[in-house]
Amino acid sequence: MKLLEGKTAIITGAARGIGKAIAVRYAQEGCNIAFTDLAINESAEQTEKEIAALGVKVKGYASNAANYDDTMRVVEEIVKEFGRVDILVNNAGITKDGALKRMTEDQWDAVIAVNLKSVFNFTKAVQPIMWKQAGGSVINMSSVVGVSGNANQINYSASKAGIIGFTKSAAKEMGVRGIRHNAVAPGFIITEMTGVLPEDVKKAWEAQIPMKRGGTPEDVANVCVFLASDLSSYVTGQVINVCGGMNT
Ligand code: NAD
Repeated sequence: MKLLEGKTAIITGAARGIGKAIAVRYAQEGCNIAFTDLAINESAEQTEKEIAALGVKVKGYASNAANYDDTMRVVEEIVKEFGRVDILVNNAGITKDGALKRMTEDQWDAVIAVNLKSVFNFTKAVQPIMWKQAGGSVINMSSVVGVSGNANQINYSASKAGIIGFTKSAAKEMGVRGIRHNAVAPGFIITEMTGVLPEDVKKAWEAQIPMKRGGTPEDVANVCVFLASDLSSYVTGQVINVCGGMNT
């Protein structure tokens, strides 16, 4: 029996990276996939193709997760097409790193909007649907730096810490209706986001990891399968580190 058979998931920012890995793992477990990204470009079309080959229903939607009205529009379209939403993965995220003394207001605003406001946008849009269904699982992509902080990432760390507060509060608000909210806090995961870091910075990260390797998107996706499935039916309001032991 597949773990997510017949369920429908919305995953934001899933044209590539961790979001794509989650979409593919969910599809392998029988889940229908509505994913979003800024544009349905070549890599989004490739994601759609790979998921369709797994025999589930899939559609990619162009949407800016930081924009409230756009989020309401896209969730309405998804519900029209898929009929229900069992799982929401708020995955879309960006970095605009720099020391505070050089950080611009735009760098701050953009990271807070894409990483944190998007979680408000999608959770608010999906909440009435899950409430009516009397069940659902929301998974928010935080980061180890949302727990521990990080120099030169004040905007990013604050957005990821905000996600943890959001997750715990939503879990308390909606537990009564069987709607679970959990956060995943990945450590250093090898994707295009971290691919831009200089080699010495990557080596310094890896040196801090007890398991002495960066994680793969699949390492994160497997934990997201657990959190989406009934295997975690009594788990809500939690933050699960996926970091090779970096944060203990
Ligand atoms: P990535 O850059 O490879 O992928 C992010 C995806 O989000 C891209 O496809 C991008 O187009 C999309 N996106 C960006 N802005 C968007 C918006 N406004 N609306 C919709 N989609 C948007 O990054 P990744 O490494 O796969 O990271 C995925 C998530 O995991 C992010 O939230 C990130 O902060 C978090 N995370 C990553 C790491 C890591 O080491 N890679 C560690 C901790 C947390």
